[in-house]
Amino acid sequence: MLFASAELHPFVKTGGLADVSAALPPALRAEGADVRLLIPGYPALMKGVVGKRVVARLPYAFGDGEVRLCSATLADSDVPVYLIDYAPLYDRGGGAYADEKGNEWPDNVWRFALLSLVAATLASEASPLKWRPHILHCNDWHSALAPAYLRYAPGQKSAVVTTIHNLAYQGNFPPQLAAPLGLPASSFSMHGVEFYGNLSFLKAGLFYADRITTVSPTHAREIQSASLGFGMQGLLTARAAYLTGILNGIDTEQWNPSTDPYIARNYRASTLQDKSANKRALQRALELEVAPQKPLLGVISRFAYQKGLDTLLAVAPAIIRLPAQLVVLGSGDAQLEQAFKTLERDFPGQVGVRLDFDEPLSHLVTAGADGSIMPSRYEPCGLNQMYAQRYASLPVVRATGGLADSVIDASPGALAAGRGSGFAYTGNGDAALFACVQRALNIYRDRDTWRRLQKNAMAMDFSWGRSARGYCAVYEAALAGPGA
Ligand code: ADP
Repeated sequence: MLFASAELHPFVKTGGLADVSAALPPALRAEGADVRLLIPGYPALMKGVVGKRVVARLPYAFGDGEVRLCSATLADSDVPVYLIDYAPLYDRGGGAYADEKGNEWPDNVWRFALLSLVAATLASEASPLKWRPHILHCNDWHSALAPAYLRYAPGQKSAVVTTIHNLAYQGNFPPQLAAPLGLPASSFSMHGVEFYGNLSFLKAGLFYADRITTVSPTHAREIQSASLGFGMQGLLTARAAYLTGILNGIDTEQWNPSTDPYIARNYRASTLQDKSANKRALQRALELEVAPQKPLLGVISRFAYQKGLDTLLAVAPAIIRLPAQLVVLGSGDAQLEQAFKTLERDFPGQVGVRLDFDEPLSHLVTAGADGSIMPSRYEPCGLNQMYAQRYASLPVVRATGGLADSVIDASPGALAAGRGSGFAYTGNGDAALFACVQRALNIYRDRDTWRRLQKNAMAMDFSWGRSARGYCAVYEAALAGPGA
């Protein structure tokens, strides 16, 4: 299997794609799959990999010059990686998509057309390598033109899976680029790479792939609707039979309460009473009243519209009067930052706000809080709710995307069956959020039930092994053909 990606943690990262590219290939290898990575030869990677050697030379398809394909391995794993060494496009500072100031690279279309074209070449009979993958796995728009190239390549070829990590970024470019990109004129149609008059990398990836995945089952349904489909909902609905949602995993070593070096006292399911030392440490760190019995709710988030923190602000005073304490770690939108600071001033000793990106503190908040609030408007997968459950900090989430798929709501029925790992609510308003917090805190007073929910949460399997098995099933379906 060839896994094509534009990002790889810790070398090049702007979002979740980098984490998935780092974690999924080794998990798939542990399942027995021969997985190799394909990624542009950014300077950080050219320097950071081990055993780099040139294995093939290809003509640069969009102009003059030669592209070298290097093979190497990653220092901390046994995953083989192919790097596309083409200095005019990749040998520069800045990030994967933009310069240091955040201006997008003007040649992004060529940077990622080359990634797509090399991916398609390695997946076709034209490959200069002896090794040919059964599956080409493309990720987001940057490699999504590969299925289009592959469709028009002669001979035998790999099956293709395209994964959507973020549907908002689509790689849409002027239609005049179709010919210079080497696409046949016939591909520029509704049944091809055309998308509202433009040429769209992501549309191509979704149209030509044998199977499509996204990062949670609920999000797979949501993106078929106008509100979350970013214009692709028609195509995604038409291809629904080939669309699967697979929840991302989390790094269960980095996020392990029994070994976490950033927290005040380590604990596990059998020593849950030790979690209270972390609550005390968190209350002290944020200058809150040290109140062991008062429920403490944590928020760790980017301050962005998507995250719904404005709904939390609207009901925060009422939550604090329940009573409860609130710790907020995050930054972003200036108005929200201001409003949370005002809230902190209005409720001294009960609200602690840190406008920062602070990874060690995020571990202490996760360990010290009793609950964790995520009122997201949409959340393709989300990670915090999974970290929170592993740390027995029960999540209160809006039931969208990965939040709906990774939290078992402690409804009366679930409680009666001994199930539940958190609290989920539907609806958009602040009233729904407040009612859910109230429901959670009513159960908090029932110590035995709360303990049971904490143990359920800690026992949830959010490992990458689980995700990898989901991907293996999709690869098998892709190989079995369209009817399968
Ligand atoms: P998104 O990628 O949309 O921001 P996720 O929940 O998928 O949301 O991932 C966010 C990640 O960033 C989590 O690991 C979260 O703990 C971390 N994070 C967000 N804000 C902060 C912060 N202020 N300090 C530390 N970590 C943060």
